[in-house]
Amino acid sequence: MLTHTLSQQSAHYLHLEEQYGAHNYHPLPVVLEKGEGVFVWDVDGKRYYDFLSGYSAINQGHCHPRIIAKLLEQATKLTLTSRAFHSNKLGEYAQYITSFFGYDKVLPMNTGVEAVETAIKLARRWGYEVKGIEKNMARIIVCEHNFHGRTSTVISFSSDPSAYTHFGPFMPGFDFVPFNDLVSLEKAFQDKNVTAFLLEPIQGEAGVVVPDEGYLKGVRDLCTEYNVLLIADEIQTGLARTGKMLAIDHEDVHADILILGKALSAGILPVSAVLADDDIMLLIKPGEHGSTYGGNPLACAVAIESLQVLKDENMAENAAAMGEIFRNELTKLNSPLIKTVRGRGLLNAIVVNHENPEAAWNLCMELKDNGLLAKPTHGDKIRFAPPLVITKEQIHECVEIIGHSLKVLK
Ligand code: PLP
Repeated sequence: MLTHTLSQQSAHYLHLEEQYGAHNYHPLPVVLEKGEGVFVWDVDGKRYYDFLSGYSAINQGHCHPRIIAKLLEQATKLTLTSRAFHSNKLGEYAQYITSFFGYDKVLPMNTGVEAVETAIKLARRWGYEVKGIEKNMARIIVCEHNFHGRTSTVISFSSDPSAYTHFGPFMPGFDFVPFNDLVSLEKAFQDKNVTAFLLEPIQGEAGVVVPDEGYLKGVRDLCTEYNVLLIADEIQTGLARTGKMLAIDHEDVHADILILGKALSAGILPVSAVLADDDIMLLIKPGEHGSTYGGNPLACAVAIESLQVLKDENMAENAAAMGEIFRNELTKLNSPLIKTVRGRGLLNAIVVNHENPEAAWNLCMELKDNGLLAKPTHGDKIRFAPPLVITKEQIHECVEIIGHSLKVLK
């Protein structure tokens, strides 16, 4: 029998959330009040390794001092203009991020899913005005088991019943293909109304599913051959997480539309972005798309520094090296309770091998008690994605915690 004690203080905060907050999440019972680098602390002062990093939003580590300094500096000057007026930050940010990723233009938004929505609108517009698709006939190909967010449009192309059940009617115009399957993709591209293929280069929420080598390159080639836009959703996989600045960089692929979010602000405020060249981006005219907070000066200042820190501190290189060690050490545990170890860079997951459907949850509870925070995804999978500032010694300590915690499942 598992006994996980909860302090009176923690119980108080849990009760407040339960009583007054919507029940749209099922968090681990831990109440955090402080973060620094790879660590977070709960209200009782207990320290944990953060192995979720806000679903990869905190690649740069919690409260990175350089990024917080920029936030504070900008916060005392100007935080929001709306796009009714210009600011001295938006142009600077637009120049910075477009040259960073090699695109003509950026369209700034806030949350990840808003950027996905933006990409969908851009792709449809391009389909009608450039590719010549008949009115309202454009189709976008998506992958089975995708995760691109939670709006009504985006759940319209989810294959997860918990995302879409009783939320219909749904937005039409999306077709599924299996992930990592070029033959099915080519078949889908036979439809002349296909305007885009929306892809997570590694399926994060599905449990860190890494495609075969050559898949991304094959996707790029098919998109070019059939005049279909490649939209890369790098919200979770991008910004050094997988050991390169973008996950598609592993196969030197350039997307027609690139979607970024999460670590673009190092976990400080919601900042997302859509990048594309002029032939796509300039199809959206004034008044046709936007958001009150999109491109606000505070977000711009934070995003520039968040990107610069990734580069200055060689976080992609560290993610590649630490990820390698992490997967090797996990594999060396040789535990019959781990069915699979997979991932790239510091985006990793294990599949738990146990007949109890609660095993992954129980393991996460044990990990928590032993000072490491992680969360199950889709039942038997646990994602391990620490901030990219983690050191070799810390990786070894964390694998020890995982090995020790596995004993709870025996
Ligand atoms: N796309 C991907 C690949 C994601 O992983 C997520 C969030 O986990 C989203 C989109 C949605 O981002 P947000 O929660 O900021 O709307």
